[in-house]
Amino acid sequence: MGEDAKKLAIVGGGAAGLAAAIAAGERARAIGVPLDVVVFERDDRVGRSILATGNGRCNFSNEYPHADDYHSGDFVGGAFGALLASVSETASDRDLKIIRDNGHVVNAFFYKHGLMWRVEDDGRQYPRTNKASTVVDVLRRAARNVGVREACEREVAAIDPPRGHGGQFTLRMADGTLERADAVIVACGGRALAALGACGLPVVAQRPMLGPLRCAETAETRELDNIRVRCDVSLVRKGERVAGERGELMFRKYGVSGICVFNLSRFAQAGDTLRIDFLQSGSIDDAVHYLYARRKLLAGTFGDGVTCEDMTRGLLLPRVADVVLKRVGMAAGDRFEKADVEKLARVLTAFDLTVEGMGDETICQVRRGGLDVGAFDCATMEAKELPGLYATGEALDVDGPCGGYNLHWAWSSGMLAGRSAAERLLQPLESGLRVATPARCGEDVR
Ligand SMILES: Cc1cc2nc3c(=O)[nH]c(=O)nc-3n(C[C@H](O)[C@H](O)[C@H](O)COP(=O)(O)OP(=O)(O)OC[C@H]3O[C@@H](n4cnc5c(N)ncnc54)[C@H](O)[C@@H]3O)c2cc1C
Repeated sequence: MGEDAKKLAIVGGGAAGLAAAIAAGERARAIGVPLDVVVFERDDRVGRSILATGNGRCNFSNEYPHADDYHSGDFVGGAFGALLASVSETASDRDLKIIRDNGHVVNAFFYKHGLMWRVEDDGRQYPRTNKASTVVDVLRRAARNVGVREACEREVAAIDPPRGHGGQFTLRMADGTLERADAVIVACGGRALAALGACGLPVVAQRPMLGPLRCAETAETRELDNIRVRCDVSLVRKGERVAGERGELMFRKYGVSGICVFNLSRFAQAGDTLRIDFLQSGSIDDAVHYLYARRKLLAGTFGDGVTCEDMTRGLLLPRVADVVLKRVGMAAGDRFEKADVEKLARVLTAFDLTVEGMGDETICQVRRGGLDVGAFDCATMEAKELPGLYATGEALDVDGPCGGYNLHWAWSSGMLAGRSAAERLLQPLESGLRVATPARCGEDVR
C-alpha cells in the first residue's frame, strides 16, 4: 500500500467489523483506488465473538429479517434499503442475479464467498457444517482477498476527532501508542462501548437483553429448576397481553430461560406477569373442553376412579405435575371429579410468575442501548455531526429477536458502513464514480 493511500480504521473485528472491512476493501478494489483497511481487534484473533453464537453453530442470518421486528426499526429499515440500493447501483449482472436468487444482500454476500447453509424453523440460517468457525473462515478469506489488515491485540482506548477540516482521526491505543486514520468505523459491539466512548456522540443507556428472566424465587421455582417444557408463554401487564411466544421454556431457580423467554425479555418490565400455558390451548374454554374429554377417556380406560395423577401422567413431567396440583390445592392420589376440571384448566393455562427483571445477565445475547441512532444517517451509518465516523452492529441502539436477526444487522450495517466509508474516502480521487441513491429511514426494504 502506498504512503499516500487513505486509511480506514475499524475498531473491532467481530461480525460488523469484518463485514465492514470486507465491504470497504471490495468497494475500493471496484473503484480501482487503493485503500488501507485496518481492523483493530483487542483480542488475539478476529471473529472470536462469532464463534460463541448459536451455541457454536452460528445462526448467522434469517430468511425474513423484517425491519419491524427490530428495536429502532425505522432506522434499520432505512439501512436495509440503503444497502440494497447501494449494492444494486454498482453490482454487475452476475451479482444482481446472486442477490435475487438468495433473497437478501447478506445471503448474497455469503453465497458469493462460498458459504453453504441450511434453513431451520422460522427461517433461521446455519452454516451447513453446523460450525460457527466456518463463518469466520469464510470472512477471513474474503478479507484477505481484498488486502484487509488484521491488527490483533490492539485495543483502542479512545477516538479523537480530526482537529480541522480534512484532518485525520487519532486512535489512542490501550498500549499508549497513537494511530491515525482518515475515517473510523466503530464496530466494538455492545459490551465494550462504554469503555471506548465515541467522540462524545449521544449514547442511550445500555441494559442486557435477550436473556433469561428473573422471577420471584419460591418453593415452586426451586422445585422446577432445570426442567424444560414446551408451552405458550406470554407477558401480561395490567391485564393486557403485551407479547407472546411459543416454544421450549426452561425453569430456573431464579426464574425462566429458553429462546421464547429470551424473546419476551425484549418487552418485559418488572412487575409483569409471565403467564405459562402448559396446554398451548389458546383459551380456557378449549382447555376445559379438553380436560373433560380427557377425564372421560381415562374413566373409560381405568374404570370410574380417575385420580389427579391419572390426569397429569403422560401430559406433564412428574415434578411439573406436583407443582401444578399443589397450586390447584390437590394431591396426586386425590380422585379427580368433574367439578375439578375448571380449577385444573385455570392453572394449566395460566401458570403465572411475577417478573422481577433480567436473570443471569452474563448469558444475555445483546445489549439494548448504545450509540443513539438519531445521531447517525441510516443511509450511510455515518455520524451526522462528525463526518468520517461510522458506527455499526451492536454498538448502535439496535437489537432484534433471536433467530439470526442480530448478526443479520451486524453484517448489514457493517457492509453499509464499509461501502460508505470507502466511497467517502475514494470518491474525490475517482472521477465519474456513481453514487448510490440512499433509501429514506422508515422504508422497509430488506
Ligand atoms: C452467547 C451468544 C450467542 C449469540 N447467538 C447469536 C446467534 O446465533 N445469532 C445472532 O444473530 N446473534 C447472536 N448473538 C448476538 C450477536 O453475537 C451480536 O449481536 C453480534 O456479534 C454483534 O456484532 P458486533 O460486531 O456489533 O459486535 P461483536 O461481535 O461483539 O464484536 C465486537 C468486537 O470488537 C472487539 N472490541 C471491543 N472493544 C474494542 C476496542 N476498544 N478495541 C479493539 N477491539 C475491540 C471485541 O473483542 C469484538 O471482537 C449471540 C450473542 C451471544 C453473547
